[in-house]
Amino acid sequence: MAKVTLQDINKSFPQRGGKSKGDRVKVLHHIDLEIKDGEFMVLVGPSGCGKSTLLRMIAGLETATSGNIWVGEENVTQLPPKQRDIAMVFQNYALYPHLNVYDNIAFGLRRMTQGVKEENKSALPGKLEKGLTGLTRAFPKEFRYHSATETSIKQKVQQVAQLLQLESLLNRLPKDLSGGQKQRVALGRAIARNPQVFLMDEPMSNLDATLRAETRSQIVQLQRKLGITTIYVTHDQIEAMTMGDRIAVMNQGQIQQVASPLELYHHPANCFVAGFIGTPP
Ligand code: ADP
Ligand code: MG
Repeated sequence: MAKVTLQDINKSFPQRGGKSKGDRVKVLHHIDLEIKDGEFMVLVGPSGCGKSTLLRMIAGLETATSGNIWVGEENVTQLPPKQRDIAMVFQNYALYPHLNVYDNIAFGLRRMTQGVKEENKSALPGKLEKGLTGLTRAFPKEFRYHSATETSIKQKVQQVAQLLQLESLLNRLPKDLSGGQKQRVALGRAIARNPQVFLMDEPMSNLDATLRAETRSQIVQLQRKLGITTIYVTHDQIEAMTMGDRIAVMNQGQIQQVASPLELYHHPANCFVAGFIGTPP
């Protein structure tokens, strides 16, 4: 796994319906944040404060106007999403509707296989063929896009399905799953590739309150088991306070405070944080 470092990130968009062509609106201001190796960091703040934009930038789906993003010792600012070794779960899960659960989870693994360059295939150590678990950590980056056989893909899918209680659902299409099940498939698809960094953007917003409470602890347990560096975005204070090792509170494109749940509660840095977290006056 790896730490993630955000260094003076700024982002502006062309103004929607702006009067002149050059009008831009600044949505992120001087974001500095370090997420430790294996940490569960929650990014919390009101709707529109820039959480998704920042997360999409870490995934490579959005470019920063200025600033740098590091994963471990590697500056990934200019890298396309596929080369970042980062997985993301979206609010709407974005499952492939025509693929069953098995193939949804296997999809990313198959794409990795297709990404193997011929010259690298011959250089792959034999034991790579045996299974996918832990592979990405054990070998240099050029071998990450390894030659996964259908057998090793099957092993990995089964391992993930077991971890997320999806074993009995592998043949179902997304339309025949409940909201909670779809969400677990989305998580499974993301972790199957053993990414270094795991990003989640409001992954529970489509679940009802009871299921959300259950899922909170499931996600935290999964993260603990995998020890994967995680950034979790939510606008929900309770989610933030119960899930995060640390919490970064955002407002209007700026980070207001980064602290543990207890520190935030007892020592909010300003009125906004106190009000948002709900610290009694
Ligand atoms: P959050 O996830 O915290 O709700 P977002 O990151 O989605 O916030 O949005 C932050 C701000 O950036 C909002 O004001 C939003 O309207 C604006 N924004 C997001 N994406 C774009 C875009 N592609 N073009 C213009 N403005 C955008
Ligand atoms: Mg958002």
